[in-house]
Amino acid sequence: MKAKTYKPTLRNLRYLAAELRKGELVAIPTETVYGLAANALDSSACRKIFKAKQRPRNDPLIVHVLGLEQAEQLADFNPAARKVAKKFWPGPLTLVLPRKACIPRIVTSGGDTVAIRAPLHEVARKLLKIARVPLAAPSANSFSYISPTEAAHVTDGLGARIRHVIDGGPCVLGVESTILDLTDPNNPRVLRPGSIGVSALQKVLGNEVRETSGAKSQRARQVAPGMLAKHYSPRTPLRLTNAINTRVKEDTGIIVLRRPRSLAAPNIFWLSERGSLEEIARNLYRVLRHADKSGFKEIVVEKLLAEGELAGAINDRLKRAAAKR
Ligand code: AMP
Ligand code: MG
Repeated sequence: MKAKTYKPTLRNLRYLAAELRKGELVAIPTETVYGLAANALDSSACRKIFKAKQRPRNDPLIVHVLGLEQAEQLADFNPAARKVAKKFWPGPLTLVLPRKACIPRIVTSGGDTVAIRAPLHEVARKLLKIARVPLAAPSANSFSYISPTEAAHVTDGLGARIRHVIDGGPCVLGVESTILDLTDPNNPRVLRPGSIGVSALQKVLGNEVRETSGAKSQRARQVAPGMLAKHYSPRTPLRLTNAINTRVKEDTGIIVLRRPRSLAAPNIFWLSERGSLEEIARNLYRVLRHADKSGFKEIVVEKLLAEGELAGAINDRLKRAAAKR
């Protein structure tokens, strides 16, 4: 098998929507990262996702829909969930809610809840409209490797295992969606930080939103299946540091937050022009992948000291990238 890359023309999207309805996999652009999509109502199609990604069966999938109306056919919404969906959809917010019976067990890893979101990316939305089925789509990378933010990243990792990749250009956000568990609307919990932060959610919900993504307890791990300490990781060992020394050996890759003033050595990479968090998030996975491919013994990344919503999400990904197996 060798993946073919398609431009998102109407003709191609019609063909690929038909492929999805037949049970094939299609890698799609979203505003967060590229996803590996299958018809979410077809359990054998969803099984192919786990096989292609080599993803363990206990790591459930996110189901993508056009909006609230379609989502309500798949999960039991409560008033709090409707409120945040109306405010943040389409966008990078995934809601965890009790599943309806039409959702195959494989999608939820056997659990009683399902994760759902409506993506904002125009190509993903067009495809959802034409396909007229919800799409289960985890990130389109091999399990635990760095998420893909360009079509070429998908082909790099999964090109031999899938047939279809849509090239929708680089992802504008670059980090995965915020996951909010609203199974119990009186106890909303963020299971994975993303660009929509706790305070923005609290403002809409009107009650306290807890963050459990960093929790290490057995219970927390069960609540957020798949949120492993080591995730989003390069193959090269990665270390975070406060004090970047740009004169280290050439066999070490150095990733700094801002573009250095003086001309940088070939082992120095930068994440943003002036340190903007949005730009750091957008470039993070592309730069990590590039450094990982360059044959360094180690990659050293400058720690992000900023606080706040998006900074928290970036730090969460960096911490996982640096975690030891
Ligand atoms: P990915 O789409 O690859 O970023 O991964 C999807 C992630 O969503 C999984 O790794 C889980 O952490 C989370 N997830 C999916 N379904 C559920 C669920 N029913 N309950 C809690 N977390 C979920
Ligand atoms: Mg993933």
